[in-house]
Amino acid sequence: MDAARNLELQEDPPAEAAARPSPVMEQYIEIKAANPDSLLFYRMGDFYELFFEDAEVASRALGIVLTKRGKHLGRDIPMCGVPIHRSDEYLHRLIALGHRVAVCEQLEDPAEARKRGSKSVVRRDVVRLVTPGTLTEDTLLDARRNNYLLAVVRARVSSAGEDMRFGIAWIDISTGEFRIAECDRMGLAAEIARLEPGEIVVSDALYSDPELAPYLRTLPAVTPLTRDVFDGATAERRLSDYFAVATTDAFGAMSRLELNAAAACITYVERTQLGKRPPLSPPVREASGSTLSIDQATRSNLELVRTLGGDRRGSLLAAIDRTVTPAGSRLLAQRLAAPLTDPAQITKRLDAVATFVVDAATRPDIRQLLNAAPDLARSLSRLVVGRGGPRDLAAIRDGIAAAKEIADRLDALKSAPAEISEAAKALRQPNPALAQELGAALADELPLFKRDGGFVRAGYLSALDEACALRDESRKVIAQLQVGYADETGVRALKIRHNNVLGYFVEVTAQHGDKLMTAPLNARFIHRQTLAGQVRFTTTELGELEAKIANAADRALGLELETFEKLAAAVIAASGAIKAAAEALALLDVASALATLAVERGYVRPIVDPSLEFVIEGGRHPVVEQMISEPFVANDCNLTTQADAGKIWLLTGPNMAGKSTFLRQNALIAVMAQMGGFVPAKRATIGALDRLFSRVGAADDLARGRSTFMVEMVETAAILNQAGPRSLVILDEIGRGTATFDGLSIAWAAIEHLHEVNRCRALFATHFHELTALSATLPRLHNATVRVKEWQGEVVFLHEVVPGAADRSYGIQVAKLAGLPPSVIERAKIVLAKLEAEDRASPRGGFDDLPLFAAPAKLAPPDPREAALEALIAALQALNPDEMSPRDALEALYALKTKAAPKKG
Ligand code: ADP
Ligand code: MG
Repeated sequence: MDAARNLELQEDPPAEAAARPSPVMEQYIEIKAANPDSLLFYRMGDFYELFFEDAEVASRALGIVLTKRGKHLGRDIPMCGVPIHRSDEYLHRLIALGHRVAVCEQLEDPAEARKRGSKSVVRRDVVRLVTPGTLTEDTLLDARRNNYLLAVVRARVSSAGEDMRFGIAWIDISTGEFRIAECDRMGLAAEIARLEPGEIVVSDALYSDPELAPYLRTLPAVTPLTRDVFDGATAERRLSDYFAVATTDAFGAMSRLELNAAAACITYVERTQLGKRPPLSPPVREASGSTLSIDQATRSNLELVRTLGGDRRGSLLAAIDRTVTPAGSRLLAQRLAAPLTDPAQITKRLDAVATFVVDAATRPDIRQLLNAAPDLARSLSRLVVGRGGPRDLAAIRDGIAAAKEIADRLDALKSAPAEISEAAKALRQPNPALAQELGAALADELPLFKRDGGFVRAGYLSALDEACALRDESRKVIAQLQVGYADETGVRALKIRHNNVLGYFVEVTAQHGDKLMTAPLNARFIHRQTLAGQVRFTTTELGELEAKIANAADRALGLELETFEKLAAAVIAASGAIKAAAEALALLDVASALATLAVERGYVRPIVDPSLEFVIEGGRHPVVEQMISEPFVANDCNLTTQADAGKIWLLTGPNMAGKSTFLRQNALIAVMAQMGGFVPAKRATIGALDRLFSRVGAADDLARGRSTFMVEMVETAAILNQAGPRSLVILDEIGRGTATFDGLSIAWAAIEHLHEVNRCRALFATHFHELTALSATLPRLHNATVRVKEWQGEVVFLHEVVPGAADRSYGIQVAKLAGLPPSVIERAKIVLAKLEAEDRASPRGGFDDLPLFAAPAKLAPPDPREAALEALIAALQALNPDEMSPRDALEALYALKTKAAPKKG
């Protein structure tokens, strides 16, 4: 292996002699210049070599040895290399770190190059750009997650005062999904949080925009590109070229911004795939408001697809994922990240789940069949971009067969709702003849790479069978030759062996070597090599046979590769139908998995309607209930009022009582219902939410270098500015991050704002008992508490949410439970008793006297007449009649009259 590498290195004259770059270095520098933004993997024999700065970057990133090789402009050239057979692994690590890699291959055999003269260099060029957002290999991808490439464009002119507008387009080239949307500044951050793109492309201008740059810098793998990629004038043409359609009208209405983003996305795909066009679905537009808007903080807070610590384990997704295929798992993650808002669409999904819940016989059958179905979408993508192997063809073969079988099984359903019958139709789309052809062509055991050969079934192609027979026949001849030579020489242990350097050779142990090297045997056996224990020879017969075998093998491999291309072409021609079937498989997996979960854990079908109701009976936390050993205590939650606004529950109770759990479970139930799943409750009716917000006080965000309290306030501000009557807001211990009175005041004012201005449904957990007094002035505020029992000086948590307020915080009891030393507990009790006694002696005056209390009435949007009245009073107070002349007095009177006149408009 190293032989090939060294051979290549010898192309260069010794370092000292190189006044100008060697021919190889010249070639390298030229190719590198064309790919300045990527690490260049430069193929040399069995290695990809990296030079100069690339070598330094890669050796640091990969922890591989940095060596040097020759000189360039008088300086050592740093170099490091990765062996071909481990290159995927290294690529993976570089990509994960956000690097881009240009893979430069040898385009001819080094022997060819030598024919052109000793100085000539092997032809090489970049055959592929590997970037985080454009991966197709299973080894580089997480099977259970989508990997999106996202393009972002901004409206060039935004009318004064209007928020920025963005067009976004995202593609998963490994599955062909392609979507577009428009959004504002807030929406952009929310979409990026939802999609978690592997790579984001933006224009140079946007990348250095002072307003956006700080945000973009916080994201992994943002790739700035030149203007032409975002050129509006050519966008339409680039997009229609890609899909080979006359105009993009066929794709439905698209805004200018969406069109530009879509065109940028596909242009980048073409560039990275060097002109190959992976099979993409036509862009589907996501109308704004069609999915539940969940911002980044809420997402991470609710631990939807991963925990705060970054693990999949412990997240809602992990708790509810019963899918059996990677595509199903990806679709479930997608749906969980983007629940719907339209009750009709949600109902459609729920109908499919319900079918599998009710039909207990079909469910396991379908899942068993799905379990055996391969990842059609990703195999198809690889075949189209020319990176597929024999196993991808087999995946298509098995996938088509599985699809057909599942469609047949679905026919047995008594009644199928729209989602299932549409899926069944899609499953029958691929032509069964294709699967048959693949079945006839492919061998039982398949190699990973087509270059290894041996994947075409014997009997499929007679020319191939002949070539193979010749190759195998010759091998038999070799076996006979070995017997003949052994007889002739009398050396029993004589062997004919093969290696890449000598080809076929005769090998005997050292003791027999001399015999073959002396007459008469030396006429036939030509000495080639003496090793420690063996001596090796060739013969003319062996040489001839060798050529024959090599020819036959070459011919056989050539025929196999031809067959591969033919079959791949047939698959590509059917890619539309195969993609449809793949999507249907994923959808059925999700529906049957959610049904399995519902049956397994006793979930119910929620009612999602356009009302403003929010009634959960016997709700449970889907993750916590699976993690704890004792039984989970189910709780009700009703945020419905008769008026056109939601109720706010103010939840008090000691630490560890279950406040946070209760808050989150209600938010999670809403998410699960709107993604079209059953929910952990006895009954649930939810007026579809448009936005969901969740915040926890004093979250740690040291990584971004902001004080925790600042974060808390920034996030609270975002909610108070955005939540509307359709929103659900969860605030957990807001105001905890600062001094007591500050915190209490902020929490106080925030609740009033939610009640009077946002008028949303909300749950607010707090340790400030004083806040419960607010229910006296805020009619839709409901006090609830989590019950605890005190028993022999210890607290017992009942986890039961009941109306009312907690009487005290039990902080010392909880501290005792936590194992604080008894002396500290005793001392704390004494201090508390003293503080409480002082408080009674000179009470803080009670909250009724706080000006804060007067505030809520005035919180409604200020009455313009009230402002006018205040202005009038101020003007009157400013007058001093004693100092006025009658004329002054008259003018003042006129002025007051004008001030009092009702304003128009
Ligand atoms: P708080 O926010 O009031 O401090 P948490 O919601 O963090 O309390 O709950 C503390 C622990 O109590 C949880 O980790 C969980 O194990 C348990 N718990 C909470 N709610 C319930 C419940 N309804 N049923 C059973 N255990 C619960
Ligand atoms: Mg808590």
